Amino acid sequence: MVPIHDTTIAILPVHLANQIAAGEVVQRPASVVKELLENALDAGATSITVIVQQAGSKLIHVMDNGKGMHRSDVELSIVRHATSKIATEDDLHAIRTLGFRGEALASIAAVAEVEIRSRRAVDDVGTVLISHPGREVVVRHQALEVGTQVVVRQLFASVPARRKFLKSDATELRHIIDAVQRAALARPDVRWLLKSESSTILDVAPADLPQRSAAVLSIERSEVASSLHEVSFSSSGIVVEGLVGAPSLARTTRSSQYLFLHGRPIVSRSLSHAIASAYEALLPTGMHPLYVLHVSIDPHRVDVNVHPQKHEVKFDNDQQVYQVVEQSVRAALQQSAVVPRMPQFQQIHPAASRSISSLPALPTAARTPSTLRDPVSPMVVREQVDLLFGRTQPEPARVFAIGSDLVGSVVQDGVMIVHVRRAHERVLYERMMERMTERDSAHTGSQALMFPVPVQLSATERQQLEELRDALEQMGYRFSLDTTPPSLTAVPQGIPGGAEQESLKALLEEVDHLGGSLGEQQLERLAALAASQQAVRSNQPRSTAVLQQIVDDLFTCSVPQVTPGGEPTYTLLTFDELYQRL
Ligand code: ADP
Ligand code: MG
Repeated sequence: MVPIHDTTIAILPVHLANQIAAGEVVQRPASVVKELLENALDAGATSITVIVQQAGSKLIHVMDNGKGMHRSDVELSIVRHATSKIATEDDLHAIRTLGFRGEALASIAAVAEVEIRSRRAVDDVGTVLISHPGREVVVRHQALEVGTQVVVRQLFASVPARRKFLKSDATELRHIIDAVQRAALARPDVRWLLKSESSTILDVAPADLPQRSAAVLSIERSEVASSLHEVSFSSSGIVVEGLVGAPSLARTTRSSQYLFLHGRPIVSRSLSHAIASAYEALLPTGMHPLYVLHVSIDPHRVDVNVHPQKHEVKFDNDQQVYQVVEQSVRAALQQSAVVPRMPQFQQIHPAASRSISSLPALPTAARTPSTLRDPVSPMVVREQVDLLFGRTQPEPARVFAIGSDLVGSVVQDGVMIVHVRRAHERVLYERMMERMTERDSAHTGSQALMFPVPVQLSATERQQLEELRDALEQMGYRFSLDTTPPSLTAVPQGIPGGAEQESLKALLEEVDHLGGSLGEQQLERLAALAASQQAVRSNQPRSTAVLQQIVDDLFTCSVPQVTPGGEPTYTLLTFDELYQRL
């Protein structure tokens, strides 16, 4: 650059500008790995090998069997904003490839020695390019296999400031492993091999997603079928596919949560919340579900160009995506719920089986969140239960306590064992839903509080409270905004004492996530929350008469099999099973 003396503003030398820009894309060795993997996938590779030394700071070598590059493209590839992936502005609004900004290789070349070896199938000879920061690049021909290899050496050697910020080799290697694992879960159809020094860290052949997930997340093969539940859901043009883990696979960290959009790993607080909320009562607080979920949507409805590392995305309709993702997980969990099989009622009453089979199936738009997707109508369930419990016979079945939380009852085919707290939760939930959705019974659904409960609200929560006042009153809440802090004077019936503020706050949070409206979904959430709080609180020794009542009530519910959170409420131990054991 020619020095310019009479002005203080100067154009940065290209090399320096690249180094600054590189800071956004290349923060650590794992970011280099991630970019190179994306390029290999964009080139259609079906087999990708990564070799690192000294956690990537000495060497990162990525080999792929993708389509390769022509000599002129190899030369262009390390030029900033040179990309083969988008040409027009419209392409930018509908990105289908992982890379598109054309700055990864240029950024890497600004802070490391880069060697690119590449050959296309149609070319007889391959190209080798060698680049050192601040020096002329060297390009020559060489005999090569089809595909591309990128070797990155001495990362950040020329940028000591950056090198200083790197963490220990162990930490940096962990980030690299994470990047490769994410890629391996994004693309189970690709063969992946990761080596650090001489040890093999990951070596996986093409597989389906469950097998790949098991391999990557160290889940026993024998456990795959029972503990990974398939998600396959589509609504409003949004497709959600993949796997969610059974509650038994939940961990105390979020380390086994993988979310992809069009094969690109993404981070989304909102969608993580959507998934977690589908688990609701299935997991204790502090436990995080395992998931590997792939989301796809019309590329025009999402912006991936909001961050240089491309892992943040912006949807045109966040709430809709939130709802679809939540529904998809909920449906998967419900479908796989361990729902006990009803005894064979044909044996009990042949006439009943005929009338049952002619009953209409449950509408597909299930009203309560835990409505099972099996086509069993509430009436059928009730009839079966009537038969089970012998309501048509003079002597009703009696219950007996087993331990502190279970009751048994001898029925036609065996012993039915009911989980009392969960059964109670289901009963309370359905009662509450009935009350809250009854049109003009705002008053009967409300219980006045003897002592108004002060509620500590943030400014936003208070704002929400005012906006939603009518809807909240319809539900049975009454509050006074004149006091400081505001106080609750009545709550919907069924909210247990002491949980008034908690229920309101949980509801406001829910409403916030779903975009400010107070619809049926929020009511369901509130009812589920209140039911589980109340069921837990009243979980103490009960008389047989009370136990009997809970069991009877359970089987008047429209969905007696599970709690609102999807936990099974009862199971049947058949006589066959019992005799087999004896
Ligand atoms: P982007 O991926 O955003 O286009 P990059 O700097 O990562 O930008 O890559 C620049 C270009 O180099 C790509 O558009 C692609 O044409 C080419 N390229 C990079 N890596 C590979 C590879 N492994 N195989 C084939 N072409 C590649
Ligand atoms: Mg790229």
